[in-house]
Amino acid sequence: MRMTRRSIVKTIGAAGLAVTSGRVSAASSKVLDVAVIGAGVFGSWTAWHLKQLGLQVALYDAFGAGNVRSSSGGESRVIRLSYGGDPLYSSMALESLAYWKALSDRQSLPIFYPIGVLWFSPERDQYMQRSLAWLTERKISHRSGNADWLSENWPQIHFKANEVGFIEEDTGGLMANRAVQATVQDAGLKPVIASVGSLQKGPSGSFTLPDGQRAQKLVYALGPWLGELFPSVLGSRLSVTRQEVFYFGPPSGDDRFSAARFPVWADFNDGDIVYGLPDIEGRGFKIAFDRHGPAIDPSSAEREPSSQGISMARTFIANRFPALADAPLVQARVCQYTNTSNGDFLIDWLPGNNDVLLIGGGSGHGFKHGPAVGRRAAELLVSGSAQTEPRFSLETKGIKANRQVY
Ligand SMILES: Cc1cc2nc3c(=O)[nH]c(=O)nc-3n(C[C@H](O)[C@H](O)[C@H](O)COP(=O)(O)OP(=O)(O)OC[C@H]3O[C@@H](n4cnc5c(N)ncnc54)[C@H](O)[C@@H]3O)c2cc1C
Repeated sequence: MRMTRRSIVKTIGAAGLAVTSGRVSAASSKVLDVAVIGAGVFGSWTAWHLKQLGLQVALYDAFGAGNVRSSSGGESRVIRLSYGGDPLYSSMALESLAYWKALSDRQSLPIFYPIGVLWFSPERDQYMQRSLAWLTERKISHRSGNADWLSENWPQIHFKANEVGFIEEDTGGLMANRAVQATVQDAGLKPVIASVGSLQKGPSGSFTLPDGQRAQKLVYALGPWLGELFPSVLGSRLSVTRQEVFYFGPPSGDDRFSAARFPVWADFNDGDIVYGLPDIEGRGFKIAFDRHGPAIDPSSAEREPSSQGISMARTFIANRFPALADAPLVQARVCQYTNTSNGDFLIDWLPGNNDVLLIGGGSGHGFKHGPAVGRRAAELLVSGSAQTEPRFSLETKGIKANRQVY
């Protein structure tokens, strides 16, 4: 059945099970409009938008919203607008920023830290130049300069003589698992803790979920688990890579690397990006290498950082941030990217099913886009349209790694 705004509104009040503490409180024959499976940043924002549209929605997650195994877990994420002039991701980031700010304003603890994002690279880098042109053209607040300007403004960083940079002034850092949990709560939802398989419609024309609820449509937003559940469709189109993140502890009383005095930063390095966040809420100074690691199983992997990774991070810190050369490692995290061949997201119907939507491929840049991805997904579910953004279609997902999106 194709869902229209009118049919949706008709079902409001008629549908809807009371879900308390993530459990259905009473048996009911009523059918939800949509069950969203996966309470990471993509699933949570999809559920949020569906709720805003007045739909009856339930959210399911095997381990809970923003859990430690998920790609949306952990402390913090970068939200930036620069994408080498790519209008699709820059405009989605801009749209999402407004949602993140509004969500943050509704919370008692901050979700968004407006501390800016500082980019630097060797001069004449095309990606950086295109990013700067996009910011200038859109009149988005930023400042730029050469190595002298960089050193004057951020003496904590060791810049090379041929480097240039710019700072996006209105972006910054997001608190990751806090943000996902806040999104779910803001939507008025509590995830049902259950692992959901690949479901088929029953004779009644609806899907039956593990807790007995039924839904007309399903969204699978399973992050690194998506390819496992749909191996014939996605197995070779999504690769899941192991990524490490390190946090170093500045000395007590030294606030030069705190969020009050230091922005989010990205050392672009011709696409071999090293990036990090300042010491936010005493969590430590974050550093991560964006290059894709080896394959990882998100369910069973031990989350222990490698000695090689720690040593790389220490060397980088000593060169770029000399005052932190002796700072202790205070926290580390092993996470995973879910990569499509070129870095474009997936938001498309399961082939042959216009009531099962697949969302994923967030790779290393998806978090910031959660609100815009969720809006697009919700609109597809409501309209029933077969037309997704071409870059997000299943059809455009190759099987050979050829990264285009940074
Ligand atoms: C180290 C690292 C750093 C990153 N840095 C940034 C950054 O700075 N900025 C940025 O924008 N992006 C960043 N990203 C990318 C971003 O975090 C991811 O793209 C995004 O979190 C993906 O979200 P998701 O909802 O697709 O997946 P997930 O967060 O993994 O959510 C999937 C959910 O599905 C659940 N699930 C799986 N299988 C089932 C099942 N069968 N039944 C029920 N539930 C199930 C899981 O428990 C999980 O909660 C980073 C990613 C990593 C790993």
